[in-house]
Amino acid sequence: MTLGDTVWHNLTVRDSSAFITRISAPNLRTNCRKCYVETTSNMRLRHLKETLMGRLSNLAGFPQHHTPTTVLFVGGGPRAALVLERLIANRNAGPQPPLQVHLVDPYPVGAGRIWRTEQSGLLKLNSMAMDVSMFTDESVQCAGPPIPGPSLWEWVCQLRAGSHRQSAAAIRADTPELLTEITALRADSFPTRRLQSHYLQWFFERIIATKDPHLHVEFHRDTVSNILESDIGDRHLIEVASGQHLSADIVLLAQGHVEARPNSVSLALEAAAAKDPERLTYIPPAYTTDSDFTKLKPGQDVLVSGMGLAFVDLFVLLTEGRGGCFDRQADGTLRYVPSGREPRLLVGSRRGVPYRSKIRGSLQGTTGAGQRFLTRQAIEELLLSHSLLDFRAHLWPLVAKDAAYSYYRELFTAHPHRVTLSWEEFEEGFARVDWYSRERSDLEILAIPEARYRLDFEALDHPFATTRFTDATHIHETIVQHIDSDLRLRDSGEHSETLGLFMGLLGSYMALGQVVKLDELTPTGRVDLSGWWHGFFSYVDSGPPADRLHQLLALERVGLIRFLGPDVRFGFNEQSGKFAAVTAYGGDPVSAHALVEARLPTPSLATTADPLLAALSRRGIISQESSDSTKIRVDACHRIIDRAGKTRPWLFAVGAGVAGFSAGAFSRPHSNAAPFRDSDALAREILSAVSQAGAQLEPTMRPESHAVFSRAPQLSAIALLASLDSVHRYLG
Ligand SMILES: Cc1cc2nc3c(=O)[nH]c(=O)nc-3n(C[C@H](O)[C@H](O)[C@H](O)COP(=O)(O)OP(=O)(O)OC[C@H]3O[C@@H](n4cnc5c(N)ncnc54)[C@H](O)[C@@H]3O)c2cc1C
Repeated sequence: MTLGDTVWHNLTVRDSSAFITRISAPNLRTNCRKCYVETTSNMRLRHLKETLMGRLSNLAGFPQHHTPTTVLFVGGGPRAALVLERLIANRNAGPQPPLQVHLVDPYPVGAGRIWRTEQSGLLKLNSMAMDVSMFTDESVQCAGPPIPGPSLWEWVCQLRAGSHRQSAAAIRADTPELLTEITALRADSFPTRRLQSHYLQWFFERIIATKDPHLHVEFHRDTVSNILESDIGDRHLIEVASGQHLSADIVLLAQGHVEARPNSVSLALEAAAAKDPERLTYIPPAYTTDSDFTKLKPGQDVLVSGMGLAFVDLFVLLTEGRGGCFDRQADGTLRYVPSGREPRLLVGSRRGVPYRSKIRGSLQGTTGAGQRFLTRQAIEELLLSHSLLDFRAHLWPLVAKDAAYSYYRELFTAHPHRVTLSWEEFEEGFARVDWYSRERSDLEILAIPEARYRLDFEALDHPFATTRFTDATHIHETIVQHIDSDLRLRDSGEHSETLGLFMGLLGSYMALGQVVKLDELTPTGRVDLSGWWHGFFSYVDSGPPADRLHQLLALERVGLIRFLGPDVRFGFNEQSGKFAAVTAYGGDPVSAHALVEARLPTPSLATTADPLLAALSRRGIISQESSDSTKIRVDACHRIIDRAGKTRPWLFAVGAGVAGFSAGAFSRPHSNAAPFRDSDALAREILSAVSQAGAQLEPTMRPESHAVFSRAPQLSAIALLASLDSVHRYLG
């Protein structure tokens, strides 16, 4: 029997002309000898194959009762790698049943799509080498055992000292620029994504070099396109784009940022560009590396919507990437030497400014760890008077107060000449007042004479809320000044209080998942958590290296960048036949023949271009959090909650498109970082699901001993189907 065969006449088929479209794997683990056969007439038949399975098991020499439980990871990026590392670490903590792990990703596992080596060597991480680690250390408060290892910086030092020969050979075979980078790298350098790719691949190879004889990890360079959920006790059938099949008891969706089909706005802009493709270019939201910018001509005006990290990648690729270079002048300023192949970028966004730059220097005053106001106790007190908590009304004031505490502690203890009270006096008053209170602002006015040192989160979030712009030149110059003063605050080393703020916000970002549970939030609270809060945090704490903003100003000085301001609306003007940008703050509309949307597509099940998410969503197996939040709905243990509100105990999800306290993949060492805690808890949930799947085995079917299993030959589901097919043919 094989795909495309006419259904056999001895099966109970009402439509004898049906063709077989799908055969599911029999479940060897539960000794279930049933195949599912799907036909073109949409019939699903259960097919008993006792004799056949007996022959098959003899044929393969495979003891049915020793088949391991199988976990399949959809995606092999950094998050999947973290969870796998935790899964292996937690297994090693005690005797475990056999486990088969499949990792499926069309890109190399370990690095995945974002961190693959095949991308421009100009693109960088927005973290310093010393701040990137994939290893749990003694600081991580998790149930599983920590397994320390080198941060990216330490790994580079080890490479230089002659360790990691395999990685060194791979780096030598990559590009000469990587060798130069490794030689010149410092702890506070911002490494290239290509270098990070090698670190991630090394990490991955190290974790799978486990000594666990009962664990088998297999990779598949493929895309998962569908999962056919099976009845209880049977394995789920996994379809991959190449047409093969795998099977798994438990599945983790770790798909990161997936592509989206164009929304109605993009479709309209695409349609407008299609009318005159010789003159008009529209580039929709995408991962910058994967967009084709060749149509953007030298000297051409290009409207750019978005000023986040994708914009930084964009201007790097269109300037240095086209042969220009930056030259440091004797007075320290940066000069851009154009190649003549650059377009001119006219850029605007909602805030109208780029993300705040990363901060140079270190804390100089009193330090202290932990959250003082955003605590479980504070949450429990709130829950006494509110059944569910709102993010903006209940959590944010605690987050703000903790971040401000960290900022002011540094201001008062490292820069006492900027304040009039001692830190002890200020701290005492500050601890007693609410963040949003008259008393707090009175205290700040009393203690901090210069308004510029008083923290105003609303002004930080909306830098031009009270600015009255006169014209386009005024807008442009105001934004240049804004970037310049941001750099003076964050890159001069003289304002370590900004680092206090950075650390305070980071602390709250990492602590939120520990002090509050997802199901303690209102639906709006969940939307704000992954929407406004994540955006604000990224804007203040996850910006580009200061060098990038110095480069942006250098490009502005040679006329290659024009700032359009905040609240810019982009569209197509039928009359002029060009794309247009209009700012709410006045100034003439600006038009151009090209428009680039410099941002990642918004993850949404309604518009996802990922075949698996689309298929699962169509069948109601996955659903989005609410009508306002497009994130995939999961419970506190990352288990999928389906459209009917039922938990799918075998299906887990984590990452950018999934609800929850999602934090980036890379963490600072020794910081009890959330991705480690979260991945450890998730790995333990998966292992618990694995043992439940194992417990469904009848006692007589349990593996007799691990040693027997480790000698038993492995038979993948694909091989099984192939064997089944040949046995059918043999039997006639
Ligand atoms: C451009 C960019 C720059 C970033 N820079 C930083 C940074 O400097 N520092 C930082 O900490 N974070 C950064 N991030 C955040 C980033 O999300 C994390 O660093 C990290 O990549 C997240 O890991 P992940 O495994 O969840 O997702 P990803 O890295 O996106 O990996 C997901 C993997 O799943 C695969 N996949 C998706 N669908 C399927 C399917 N149906 N079948 C099989 N495989 C599938 C993809 O091919 C991909 O390899 C950046 C993100 C982007 C987009």
